[in-house]
Formats: sequence, structure tokens, C-alpha cells
Amino acid sequence: MGKTLIAKDKLEQCITECIAPFGLTAKLDTDFAYYYMKDLVTFSLFTFDCVNDFMLDAESRFPKVFGISPFMWALFHEVGHHETGDDLTDEEIELSKQIKESINSEDPNSRLLYFTCPDEYAATEWAGCFIEEHLTEVEEMWNKIAYALGKFYQANDIVDE
Ligand SMILES: [Zn+2]
Repeated sequence: MGKTLIAKDKLEQCITECIAPFGLTAKLDTDFAYYYMKDLVTFSLFTFDCVNDFMLDAESRFPKVFGISPFMWALFHEVGHHETGDDLTDEEIELSKQIKESINSEDPNSRLLYFTCPDEYAATEWAGCFIEEHLTEVEEMWNKIAYALGKFYQANDIVDE
């Protein structure tokens, strides 16, 4: 991101509040990701890579969770990596690595293999269970985040295209 963004700290603080109970900090970046060594989750504005594939996978596995923002799904998916990472066996970690290396991002069918990776599957599983059990709380979190995002776009003259 080239230009200096106004009130970036405030936005990050708002999102950090939602994941602080898990010992995590949120920072704005170009995509959602989890950084194991830093207890850090990054988030992006508007959307993220393969959002449609991601949501199809998540919502088909958790049909009771309906109408939750992709932002919240992605945020708790990253928390899910944090919460489930230590439970993965060496074999599962190796398999995840192999599958990810084999994916041809140009091929939509190949891209779907991503969701079969044991680490990705476990992270979404954790996220879905968490959201299902804390539906009202997650909706309230999203209201706060959506408001903060709106303010942030306004302050920085960012327009959703
Ligand atoms: Zn993931």
C-alpha cells in the first residue's frame, strides 16, 4: 500500500478486539493470513483471494450458519489456524504442503483441492463451530467492524469498486 492511510490503527484495534481473546493481533494487509510465529492475523479490505470458493466450502459444511459475512468467516478461519495448528500431525502438515504445491491456480477444479488440505479443512471446521456457537456475538462483532470499515473508507477516500 503506497499512500499513508488515516486511522489504520483504529481499524486494526477494532478487529484486534475480536481476536484478542485468542492471543492474536490484527493488521491490515493485502490478504487474510495467519503468521504463526507472530501471533498475527492479517486482513484485507473488501474481499480476498478465492472468496467464492471459500464461502461455498464453508457454507456447505455449516448450513446452519447463514448470512455471516465472508470477512468474519475469513477472520475466524485464520484464528482456526492458530487454534488447530498444534493438533495437526506431521503427516497432515506434509500432505497439506504437497497438495498446495500441486495446485494449478489457473484451473478452477485444481484450486478446489486447497479446501481438502488438512490444515485448511481444520481451520474452517474450527471457524464454523465457533461461529455456530457464538452467532449473536459474531453478528455484533461484524456490525462494529463494518462500521469501522465504513469510517475507514470514508477517511481515506477509498471507494469499493
Ligand atoms: Zn487458511
